Amino acid sequence: MSAPAPCPVHETILRVRGEIESGRLAHPRSRRIAEEILDLLNDVAWGRAGQDHPGAIASLADELAADTEHPAAPGLARFLLDALSRQREVFQSHIETHNCASGDCVRLVPAPCQMACPAGIDVPTYVNLIALGRDAEAIEVIRRDNPFPWVCGLVCTRPCEFMCVRGRLDKPISIKFLKAFAAERALSERSYRNPPREADKGRRVAVIGAGPGGLTAAYYLALKGYGVTVFEELPMAGGMMMIGIPRYRLPREVIDREVAMLEDLGVRFRFGTRFGRDVDLETLKSRGYDAVFLAIGAHASFKLNIPGEADFPQVIEAIALLRRVALGDHRAPGKRVVVVGGGNVAIDAARTCLRLGCEEVTIAYRRSRADMPADVEEVEQAEEEGVRFSFLTIPKAVHGAASAVRGLECVRAKMVKKDDGPRLFPVPVEGSEFTIEADTVVSAIGQRIELECLRDLQGLSWSRRQTIQASAVTQETSLPGVFAGGDAVTGPATVVEAIGAGKRAAEAIDRWLSGIPQPTMPPVPVRRRRVDWIEVPASTKMTLRRPEMPLLNLERRRTTFQQVELGYPENAVREEARRCLRCDVCLRCGQCVAVCRDRMGIDALQFGFLSFDRPGPTDLRVTAERCILCGACAANCPNDAIRVVDRGGERLLSWCGTILNRERLERCEGCGAVLGPRRYLEYLQKRTAPVGPLLTGRLLCQACARRESARMHTDIAPV
Ligand SMILES: Cc1cc2nc3c(=O)[nH]c(=O)nc-3n(C[C@H](O)[C@H](O)[C@H](O)COP(=O)(O)OP(=O)(O)OC[C@H]3O[C@@H](n4cnc5c(N)ncnc54)[C@H](O)[C@@H]3O)c2cc1C
Repeated sequence: MSAPAPCPVHETILRVRGEIESGRLAHPRSRRIAEEILDLLNDVAWGRAGQDHPGAIASLADELAADTEHPAAPGLARFLLDALSRQREVFQSHIETHNCASGDCVRLVPAPCQMACPAGIDVPTYVNLIALGRDAEAIEVIRRDNPFPWVCGLVCTRPCEFMCVRGRLDKPISIKFLKAFAAERALSERSYRNPPREADKGRRVAVIGAGPGGLTAAYYLALKGYGVTVFEELPMAGGMMMIGIPRYRLPREVIDREVAMLEDLGVRFRFGTRFGRDVDLETLKSRGYDAVFLAIGAHASFKLNIPGEADFPQVIEAIALLRRVALGDHRAPGKRVVVVGGGNVAIDAARTCLRLGCEEVTIAYRRSRADMPADVEEVEQAEEEGVRFSFLTIPKAVHGAASAVRGLECVRAKMVKKDDGPRLFPVPVEGSEFTIEADTVVSAIGQRIELECLRDLQGLSWSRRQTIQASAVTQETSLPGVFAGGDAVTGPATVVEAIGAGKRAAEAIDRWLSGIPQPTMPPVPVRRRRVDWIEVPASTKMTLRRPEMPLLNLERRRTTFQQVELGYPENAVREEARRCLRCDVCLRCGQCVAVCRDRMGIDALQFGFLSFDRPGPTDLRVTAERCILCGACAANCPNDAIRVVDRGGERLLSWCGTILNRERLERCEGCGAVLGPRRYLEYLQKRTAPVGPLLTGRLLCQACARRESARMHTDIAPV
C-alpha cells in the first residue's frame, strides 16, 4: 500500500516556516509578511480559518512578490500562489470541515467516537455542550449529521461507545443517552429548530420509503432547497423504527416529533403509495422528479426451512408480528411461544409476546449466549422480564395436530471449527433431539429485501446477497439518477447506518443535479464546532462513574408497552458528559509521558489508555503527587492538549481541561516577580549551583539575587 499523500496545507506551512528560519528573507518587511502568512496558514491548519483566509494569504503573497531585491521572497510568493490555486479544494475543505483528511494537521483529526459513527456525528463537541447545559446547541451540532437525535438517543447501537477511550479506563461515556436527554430537553423548551433552508432550486427528488434512510435524505435535500416527496407504502412514516422496534424501547411520540420537523421543512409525504404498484420510475420521471432515492429497507423474512413450517398458521414471522402490534393489534399470538433466533429482532419479538400476555416465552438460539448478536443489555432485560433461553439449539421440525402447533422439535448443537478458520460453527449433535412445547413458533432468523417492487427496474444491479448494488461513497446505483441506501443496500443493519447512507445520498444527489463531479473517497467526518473544554479536577474526573440506567418496575415492564429505560436525571447527565476525555484534542501520542519520564526523570504522567489494545492502569490523581509543574509536557504537546497557566496566584497543569496539578506560585521577596511553584524551584536548585551561602533561605529572582549579592559583597568588603 502506498503511503498517504502529505497534506498540502501542512507542506505549505513547513515551507514558509523554513524560509523564515533560514534568514533568506533578508528584507524585514518580507519577513514580517511571511510571518503574517504563517499565522493565517496556521489558522487553516487549526480549523479556525474563515472563507477570507485564502484571499488574504494570496494578497500577502502578491506583496511578497514585490520584494525583487532578494530572490527568496518572489520564489516563496510563487510557491504560495501555486499551492493556493492547485490545492484550492484542500484548503477549502480544511476551512469548511475543520478536518485534515491526511491527519498531518494533527489538531483536526476526529476523535475515535466520531470516526466510529456511521453518520460521522461530532460527538466530543456535542457531549461538551451537554456538559455545559447547552442542549439546544448540542442538538444543532448533532442534526448537522443526523436529523434524529432523539430516536438515536434511545435505540442507536452506539458504535461510538465501543470506541470511547474512557471505556479503556472504566466505562465508556453514555453517549447515546446524552443525546436523547438533550433532544427531549430542547424539544420541551422549544429550542429544537430546523436550520434555515436554502433558496428553492426548482428541482424535485422522489424518496421511496419513509424509514430513517429515506427520511434523512429527504431532510438534507429539503435543506438544500429541493422539492422532496416521500412515497411510503404504510400509512405512517418511520419504517422499521415505527413498525419494527417496539414502543417500550422507542415511543411513537419520539418518531412523530422528529418526523414533524421534516414536514415543517416542506417535505411532502404520499402514504399508502407502493413503488412498483402505485408509482414506478417512469411515472416519477413524467411527474417531473429529477432524481430518485430508493430506501425500501429489508422487510421480507428468511424461512426456517424445516418440516411443518408451512403447515401451521401459528408459525409466524417476527417482523409480521411486530408490525401488527405496532399498528394496534394487541392480541397474544398464543400461550407458549418459542422464538427462533438470537438477534435484536428475536429479543424484541419475545419481549413483545410477554407484554401481549403470552404465559411462556422461550428463545431458541443455535449458538451460545456469548455469540448472541443481540445487545447485551436487551438480553439481560429480557431475562429479567421472564424470557427463557435455550442455547445451542437447532430447530428441526414443527409438530402439531388438527392445525394446532404442539411443539418445536430441536437438536442440540456443538460448536466446531470449519476449514481451519478461527470461527466456530454450530453442528447438530446426533441423538440429542428434544422438543420445546409451544403453541406458536416465531421465526426471527433474519430479513432480506423484498424484490417484487423493483422487478421492473431494468438495468438495476444487485449484489450477491440480493441487495441493491450502490456505491458506498455516493449511494449511486447502476441507473443514472437513481440512488439507494439503508437496509436495501446493506441488508438488515442499523438506524444510524441508514441515516449515514441517507446523508451521503443527499450530498451525491445534490452534486449530480448540479453537475459537480462525485467524490471517489468516503467523506472524512466533519468537526462542526470547536468548543473549549471544561475544567474538572483530576479527582472528580477519576471518581465520576457512568450512571446506571433507571428502569421501569418489573411488573409494569411485563404487562405494558411503557418505556423501559427511564433516562438519567439532569445532574447525572451533566456529570456524565464531564467524564469525556476529549480525545479530539489529545491524540494519545504519548510525547508528554515520554518527556516527563525519560527527559525530566519525573514520571508524573500516567495515561494508561495510550495503547488502545493494552490499556494500563490510569489514575490522573497520581500526577499531583509527583509533578513539579515544570511545563515540559505542555511544551512538547503537538496539539496544545496539555496547558500550564499561571492564574490566581497558582500554576495550573491541565490536560484537556482535567486539572492534573496546581500549586501556589512563589514570588521574589525582593521585587515580587513570579518565580514558580516551590517544588519546581527545588528541582532547579538541585540541578544548578546554589547562588551562594549568604542567600540561602531567601527566595529571590535572578536579578534581585545578583543585586543582593553585590550589595552584601560591598557591605562586607573593607572600604
Ligand atoms: C425488530 C427490529 C428491531 C430493531 N432494533 C434496532 C435498534 O435497536 N437499533 C438500530 O439501530 N436498529 C434497529 N433495527 C434496524 C433498523 O430499524 C433498520 O436498520 C433501519 O430502520 C433501516 O432503515 P431503512 O430506512 O433502510 O429501512 P426501513 O426502516 O425498513 O424503512 C423502509 C421503508 O420503506 C417502505 N417501503 C418498502 N417498500 C416500499 C415500496 N415498494 N414502496 C414504498 N415504500 C416502501 C417501508 O414500508 C418502510 O417504511 C431493528 C430492526 C428491527 C426489525
